[in-house]
Amino acid sequence: MKAVAEAVAPRPLMPVEEALAQLLALADSAPIPDREQVRLAEAEGRVLAEDLIAGLDLPPWPNSAMDGYALCLADWQGEPLSVSQRIFAGHAPEALAPGTCARIFTGAPLPAGADCVEMQENVDVLADGRVRFLHPLRSEQNVRPQGQETRVGEQVLAAGTRLGPIELGLAATLGHGRLPVVRRARVAVLSTGDELVEPGQPLGPGQIYNSNRRLLVSWLQRMGCEVVDAGILADDLELTRQCLAGLGDVDLILSTGGVSVGEADYLGMALREAGQLALWKLAIKPGKPLTFGHFRGVPVIGLPGNPASTLVTFGLLARPYLLRRLGVRKVAPLRFEVPAGFDWPKAGSRREYLRARIQDGAVHIYKNQSSGVLRSAAWADGVVEVREGTTPKVGDRVPFIPFSELLD
Ligand code: AMP
Ligand code: MG
Repeated sequence: MKAVAEAVAPRPLMPVEEALAQLLALADSAPIPDREQVRLAEAEGRVLAEDLIAGLDLPPWPNSAMDGYALCLADWQGEPLSVSQRIFAGHAPEALAPGTCARIFTGAPLPAGADCVEMQENVDVLADGRVRFLHPLRSEQNVRPQGQETRVGEQVLAAGTRLGPIELGLAATLGHGRLPVVRRARVAVLSTGDELVEPGQPLGPGQIYNSNRRLLVSWLQRMGCEVVDAGILADDLELTRQCLAGLGDVDLILSTGGVSVGEADYLGMALREAGQLALWKLAIKPGKPLTFGHFRGVPVIGLPGNPASTLVTFGLLARPYLLRRLGVRKVAPLRFEVPAGFDWPKAGSRREYLRARIQDGAVHIYKNQSSGVLRSAAWADGVVEVREGTTPKVGDRVPFIPFSELLD
């Protein structure tokens, strides 16, 4: 028996891309279906549920890009013009009287008949009040034409867009007071481990403070989720069963810890009894063991317990999964290549996400990349990706993902 077992090659680790593709496929098959209308003021961080279509032209009418004078170039012979009206932003002009110009201010509507604006710095106002134009003029100069930015009927934002300050500003330019958004995701967070104690409590022998709970709860809140905080779960099968059963109506159960090799995996046991379970060994570092399962139909993701592993696996795998459940299409963080400020001489069999900081045009890694060291991430601006089997050297370009891309 022993000889046979030894002859079986160990299963290769699952590449990060494959894990992500599987998670996104699972998310696509279980979208959060509920929609609601929210006021623009409450839409920050939410996911747009329908395409946003322009209901008006932007700008809605031609207007002046400058403080100056509007005239009809087609009728003008070069002579000084008298000023027939003053047009401020927010005021409706009269048609331009023939043979005159109009004083006009930035953002004010162009009067009918005008086709050109000259900036005030380029004119002389004569003693009799007439305006002499000092430079050659071009038709349409300093005029923002109607619909220059957007035409009625154009799609301005696609369903699945996350609404931040820019998107909300854009929706406001089109006059939307409310937006259709996807309901917030409800996520339960539980931290497994007999050794865990909450901050603020005294630390007993062999105990450590529960850092993952704070990390994940505040991260999920930034992502706009409703968090069901289930606190600490002791390493015990019966308690695990009870905890899962008591979580109520959530879209995702997120747990940390209890998935290390060799450990009694109570979450796994409970899921096997009342649902399904896949245990993945990922080619990722920090990280590696990841659980995906269902408990009574609710998806469960079990992240590794070391805080830096929790950070990396949540940011690169669970976060995109959750965003996709909400209908977000673009879930991949922006990454860009930066010259390495370090040597990585030993090729690994897992993809490494090194906590790193950009300084003087190169990316530098924290001295201790151990998966338990959350301080590495606090020091860092983001993570450098070192692919399996590669040995980047100082000056080689390496992919960098800023934390700012991941943390909301
Ligand atoms: P486990 O997967 O449960 O074996 O956990 C791996 C490592 O992460 C152990 O050293 C745990 O003590 C630690 N760990 C697990 N959960 C947490 C947590 N919530 N906060 C801080 N450390 C944790
Ligand atoms: Mg544990």
